Amino acid sequence: MIIFLFGAPGAGKGTQAKILSEKLNILHLSTGDILRDELLQESKLSQKLKVIINSGSLVSDELINDIISKRITKKDCKKGFIFDGYPRTINQANYIDIFFQNNQLKINYLFEITLNQNETIKRINKRSFEENRADDSIDTIKTRLNKYFNDTVPVLKHYKSTQPELYFTVKGDQEISIIHSEIMKKLEK
Ligand code: AMP
Repeated sequence: MIIFLFGAPGAGKGTQAKILSEKLNILHLSTGDILRDELLQESKLSQKLKVIINSGSLVSDELINDIISKRITKKDCKKGFIFDGYPRTINQANYIDIFFQNNQLKINYLFEITLNQNETIKRINKRSFEENRADDSIDTIKTRLNKYFNDTVPVLKHYKSTQPELYFTVKGDQEISIIHSEIMKKLEK
């Protein structure tokens, strides 16, 4: 099963993706986590990435498309996977759509976890204390939210119009367990 999970920073997509991946026994592929792992390496690439990520900007489509296309062709992705944080731009969506076509892969479900902007800011603030994520600082929150509205919302619109039967919206201002069960209900249909 292949699931795409969308939501603004702080909407809870990482939390839901983790629970779902355990429940469905498929991989949770978070591009944010993959990139944060890369930052732990002392490489030239990680130095460049650190500046981009900590400023709240997006890393290049080319780099992320390359990472993802290599990752999903590995054996452990055969059963399926959950994309968390990808595709995040229209270029990424176009790239992965063609990649799926060429590799006989099919999206099964797309979920958007919605959260209003005030709640989003509150949650990211809280997370910046709890997880000490450099890109959760007040200064970068605005950039990250702008990126979401300018670059990622068009991706949501793209899938809503091309795959309306696979696209579901779930309210993010609910208990984690309720959001999870709402997603499961859609999957069980
Ligand atoms: P996240 O944990 O999903 O919020 O991602 C953290 C940061 O990693 C983002 O603010 C971006 O700088 C970078 N990132 C994650 N996914 C992508 C993506 N699909 N395209 C570009 N940059 C990304």
